[in-house]
Amino acid sequence: MRVVFIGPPGSGKGTQARKLEERLGIVYIGTGDMLREETRQRTELGQRVEPYLTRGDLVPDSLVNDIVAERLRRPDLPHRFVMDGYPRTVSQARSFDAVLHERKLELTAVINFLIDEEEVVRRLSGRQRADDSEQTVRQRMQIFRDTSRELLEHYRQKRLLYEVNAVDSEENVYQTVAKILQSAAGK
Ligand code: AMP
Repeated sequence: MRVVFIGPPGSGKGTQARKLEERLGIVYIGTGDMLREETRQRTELGQRVEPYLTRGDLVPDSLVNDIVAERLRRPDLPHRFVMDGYPRTVSQARSFDAVLHERKLELTAVINFLIDEEEVVRRLSGRQRADDSEQTVRQRMQIFRDTSRELLEHYRQKRLLYEVNAVDSEENVYQTVAKILQSAAGK
C-alpha cells in the first residue's frame, strides 16, 4: 500500500495521513516535516531551504527530489507508506515515478483533498505555524492552484487519482479515505 495525498495547505491531508499511520500502521512520510527538521538542525540543506519555507514558496524540485529519493532508497523503506505533500509538481512526480520503478514499487492510490480557499484561510487562521499568516497561506494556495492541475492530470492518466471532499468531519473524511484505499488495494 503506497499512497500519495494531494491538497492545499489546511485541507487536512496531514492530519489524515497521520491517522492512517496511527490506525493502520501506514508509515507517514511528509516532505514539509523533513524540510522543517533540516532547518531546525541548521544543516546545509536546511539553510538553503529556509527562505522558501518562510515565504511559503516551493523549494526547488531538485532539492526535494534528492531528499525523497534518499529516503526511498534506504533499505528500511516501509512497504506501506503515505506521502504527505510530495510530489507537488509534475517534475517531482516524474522523479518519484523513477525511484519507485527502480525499487520495483507501484503506487496504490493518489487522493486529492478538495477544499475552497476561503475555508482554508478560515481553518489556518487558528494554526500557530510560522508559515500560516494569511498572506503566506494565500501564496501557498496560489502556488497549489498553479501547479496541481498538471500534477492531478499526470495521475488521472495513470488511473490512480481519487478525490475526497475535505470539508467534512475528520472522522467522515477518514472513513472515505479508508474505503478508497481498501477498494484501490483490491484492484
Ligand atoms: P507542508 O508541510 O507540506 O505544508 O510544506 C511546508 C513547506 O515546505 C511548503 O510551503 C514548501 O515551502 C515546502 N515543501 C514541502 N513539500 C514540498 C515539495 N514537495 N516541493 C516543494 N516544496 C515543498
